[in-house]
Amino acid sequence: MNSKSIPWQAGPLPPTLGGTARAAATPLARIDRVPATAYIATMALRDILILPDKRLRQVSEPVKKIDAGIRKLIEDMFETMYEAPGIGLAAIQVGTPKRIITMDLAKKEEPENPQVFINPEILWISEEKAIYEEGCLSIPEYYSDVERPAQVKVKYLDREGEPREIEANGLLATCLQHEIDHLNGVLFIDHLSKLKRNRVLKKFTKAAKRAAE
Ligand SMILES: [Zn+2]
Repeated sequence: MNSKSIPWQAGPLPPTLGGTARAAATPLARIDRVPATAYIATMALRDILILPDKRLRQVSEPVKKIDAGIRKLIEDMFETMYEAPGIGLAAIQVGTPKRIITMDLAKKEEPENPQVFINPEILWISEEKAIYEEGCLSIPEYYSDVERPAQVKVKYLDREGEPREIEANGLLATCLQHEIDHLNGVLFIDHLSKLKRNRVLKKFTKAAKRAAE
């Protein structure tokens, strides 16, 4: 694969990249657990919504129960994300307004490292900022530097419905913030100047019109 096609065209990563996940002290137990063997999934690619699709501006709903439908959605999100290829995907990008994120930040030579974040909430952000060149599967082939908090603390449920907390820095911190933005109907171009944003919007609106003709 061509590295240019990977969103998050980031420079060399600091050695501290990554985060440590651990189970939260107080289990929330809000989500019914379903054994992984409770269903057999056939993965399927789903269409990725492209700017200016209005659904990308929807605020996604929390997942109440991790049932077979949610598990299938997660499998399909991974399939779609790997195929694109991308390193992060929010459920709304495949048209499902649920608060689910899939991610895999493993480098090409590393084994796959699929991560799922359900109902993620940012608990803390650092004052220190970091700049990464971001991209988005819903805004293909457009990249721009975005400044965000360098570290974040996020609580979420894993795919078994287990409550967890993660302290992230580097690419993971940026990626989490980018994807959580999606759950709130926010796109990375919203963090750019109005001039830049309008230029991108115009380009993609024109392309959508042309495609519809
Ligand atoms: Zn995105």
